[in-house]
Order: sequence, then structure tokens, then C-alpha cells
Amino acid sequence: MSMKNISVIGAGTMGNGIAHVFAQFGYAVTLNDIRDDLIEKGMKTIGGNLDRQIKKGALTEADKAKILQGISRSTDLRAAVAKADLVVEAATENREVKMEIFRAVAAAAPPGAILASNTSSISITEIASVTGRANRVIGMHFMNPVPVMKLVEVIRGLSTDDQTTTEVLAVARSLDKTPVEVNDYPGFISNRVLLPMINEAVYCVIEGVATPESIDTVMKLGMNHPMGPLTLADFIGLDVCLAIMNVLHDGLGDPKY
Ligand code: NAD
Repeated sequence: MSMKNISVIGAGTMGNGIAHVFAQFGYAVTLNDIRDDLIEKGMKTIGGNLDRQIKKGALTEADKAKILQGISRSTDLRAAVAKADLVVEAATENREVKMEIFRAVAAAAPPGAILASNTSSISITEIASVTGRANRVIGMHFMNPVPVMKLVEVIRGLSTDDQTTTEVLAVARSLDKTPVEVNDYPGFISNRVLLPMINEAVYCVIEGVATPESIDTVMKLGMNHPMGPLTLADFIGLDVCLAIMNVLHDGLGDPKY
């Protein structure tokens, strides 16, 4: 199936970045959120990020105008997905919120549309269970900031079929991203590997192994990480780190989490 119309649900940090890259690569995007002012805030962020790309010489003013023109806005979820070939949900990380969205989207999107979630931790299989089209539901986990980061984790739920996976891998490549296929396990790969490392760095502070600065320096200079784990934890937010550790603990049942 050739993809043209993309609906992005949620205009926050991730949603506006996702809308930005789809529009940049020529897709017709509809950006949805619950209020007009939230969509406008997202559009303002896109404008600012496009200006940064222009300053770097990656885009022109004409490109910017075309990209912004390629994004229509709607607070009506059903209308926003009515013509979608692909829906990418990037709403608040809350199970009930996402289930409600996927129920509504499944009822309003064309029958063949792919329904993707950018969730960091909620099971794709569980999300798919409320849609009546579990074979067409998949995870598309972009990294922050979306216009800059190359990786997209493509998460297959239990019922996601090969065709859906192939189409989503191709779409991710068309955005100049590198997709990696992952099965639906708690934390996928990115958070399953990253968060225990951050947690261990926190334990090093608690046990007095070294100062936070020394721990970050060891990982930057010794392992070539661009940023130490404790600095990164502050960027992600300690509340988010804790929530992901809880997902790993609940889902995998190992006290090490
Ligand atoms: P955010 O809080 O910045 O944005 C979420 C947006 O969703 C808000 O604008 C909110 O108004 C909107 N929203 C809430 N309910 C909605 C509904 N019913 N319909 C439409 N829009 C609704 O959050 P974010 O950081 O952009 O995260 C979005 C998703 O991306 C989450 O699932 C998160 O786990 C995932 N994620 C986040 C990051 C990150 O670094 N922030 C990285 C990867 C994945």
C-alpha cells in the first residue's frame, strides 16, 4: 500500500516532532490534540525547529513554508483519522488514555489503515486488543528529538502481521530513519538496556562508589557515551525513569529492576 496521509495524535514533545518529519518528507499530515492551543504550541515548536534546520543550511525558507502547509490541524479525533493510511499515536503515556484513543481511531480510520503507537512502555499487544484489527497495530517508537535522532524501534505485537511490519519499516526508511524490529517485551530494547544502566549509576551514588560527576566522566570518556547516565537521567526526568523501571519490574518480575 502506498502511504500518503498520516495522522499524528498528540502535538506534544514527540507528536510535533513526528508531524515535522513526516511533512518534511512529503507526506500529508493531520495533527490532532485535545485543544487548539496545544496544536498551535506544537506548530510553533515545529516552526522553531525548522528555523534551526534553515540556519544549518539543511532547508530553505521555501521548504519551511511547504512543510508547514503540509500539516493540517484538527481537534476532532474521528475527522483527523478519517482518511489516514497510517495513524501514529503520540498522546500522553497513560494506559486508559491510549485505550480510549485506539478504540475511537479503530472505529473512524479506513479499514486498511495501520495504527501505530509511539508508547515507551505500554504493550502493543494490549493496545491492539481494543481495535478489532490487531494485525494492523504496531509500535513506532521514535527517539527524542525526533527530527535529529535516527532510530525508530518498530515493535511487533503478538498479532502484528508481516505486511504491516514491512510497510512500517519502509515508511521509517522513507523518513531517513533507521528502523529496528523488536518484539513486544517490557521496555522494548532501548529502555530495557538503558534504564538498568542508569539505575546502576544511581546505586553507585547511593553506595558512595564515586561522585555523580566522576560516574558520568567514566561513562563518557571510558565508554564513549555522549552524555553520562546521571545527566541523561535528569534529561529524561527521574519520574519517567522510575515509571519505566516499574514497567520492567512488573513485566519481567525480576527484583533487579
Ligand atoms: P507530551 O506530554 O509532551 O505530549 C502528549 C500530548 O498528548 C499532549 O499535548 C496532550 O494534550 C496530548 N493528548 C492527551 N490526551 C489526548 C487525546 N485523548 N487525544 C489527543 N491528544 C491527547 O508527551 P510526549 O513526551 O510527547 O510523549 C508522547 C508519547 O511518546 C508517550 O507515549 C511517551 O511515552 C512517548 N515517548 C516519549 C519520549 C520522550 O522523550 N518524551 C520518547 C519516546 C517516546
